[in-house]
Amino acid sequence: MITARHNWTKEEILEIYNKPLMELLYEAATIHRMHHDPNTVQVSTLLSIKTGGCSEDCGYCPQAARYHTDIEGSDLMSVQHVKAQALRAKESGSSRVCMGAAWRNVKDGQEFDDVLEMVRTINKLDMEVCCTLGMITENQAQRLAEAGLYAYNHNLDSSEEYYKEVISTRGYKDRLDTIDNVRKTNVTVCSGGIIGMGEKIEDRAGMLVALSTLNPQPESTPINALVAVEGTPMEDEKPVEIWDMIRMVATTRIVMPETQVRLSAGRTQMSREGQAMCFFAGANSIFAGDKLLTTPNPDVNEDMKMFDLLGLNPQKPFTKKTQPQTVEAGDSQYEALGEKPKWTRPEHTIERNEDAKVKAKLLR
Ligand code: SF4
Repeated sequence: MITARHNWTKEEILEIYNKPLMELLYEAATIHRMHHDPNTVQVSTLLSIKTGGCSEDCGYCPQAARYHTDIEGSDLMSVQHVKAQALRAKESGSSRVCMGAAWRNVKDGQEFDDVLEMVRTINKLDMEVCCTLGMITENQAQRLAEAGLYAYNHNLDSSEEYYKEVISTRGYKDRLDTIDNVRKTNVTVCSGGIIGMGEKIEDRAGMLVALSTLNPQPESTPINALVAVEGTPMEDEKPVEIWDMIRMVATTRIVMPETQVRLSAGRTQMSREGQAMCFFAGANSIFAGDKLLTTPNPDVNEDMKMFDLLGLNPQKPFTKKTQPQTVEAGDSQYEALGEKPKWTRPEHTIERNEDAKVKAKLLR
């Protein structure tokens, strides 16, 4: 049995990524079978609980307030609305709900208390609950854990070097610090990235070095293909080739054998054959629903047809780790501390981000 190694180098990972494709697929599929049921794929639903108006400048994101895109912003959803959506997701085969809020970081107060209630509500529906809310402190991570959170998503996006070409409003270390805060609780870590942002293959390998050398490695790693949205700084990036996606999934599977690898954004551009090769290479989760936060995603019925065709079964919840207990708000042992941590604001200039901002001002 090949177990997780935490000392991968960029050179070793590049060597894997660049192997002849059939060798790469064979190795990845073999490792995949040692740790996972190859005929089981988790179906997760991503729910945008607060859309748009974000103060960050992530170059791929249509939710950044500074760019002009046609997404409609919204305030935080109500707990009842989230519960109804989670029930719908459960009925259509999802075992996990991931709630995303377009925030730089979590602030203590009513909105965070509402999110904690959403976590309690979904955990009581016997579904895995994941949140992606931006940067969080250890106290906030503890409160999420107490509410019954199963996973916290915080993507590294790319290599540390290329991150500086994507985002100027926070540093790579802020990401790692949040992952560290989550690790101090019993919440599992979900962290991955995006390919197709103009990065080099070395940057893809660099991201996998950063993820695989975390100890423990993330329990879950989404691999996204950029969806180039008009109005964002990356609007002109070419679609990711399916071969790049397959190589990235296979390499992730080899360097992180126990991790759940998630085939995430960009699936609308992939054929069923392409997705089947990604499953063969070790992907064992997809996101269901016609939207992935704000970008298009295949229809859930189409996905179920694909599962039938390939003989895949949706994964049951809590197969990798037992369901967390939910502590009610009144019984909590953690108080809101109202901390104001000094997350960094490097604010270096990224030309294409600046250009998109200027363009947006002209269009408003
Ligand atoms: S990716 Fe998240 S943090 Fe970055 S702009 Fe979009 S919503 Fe904000």
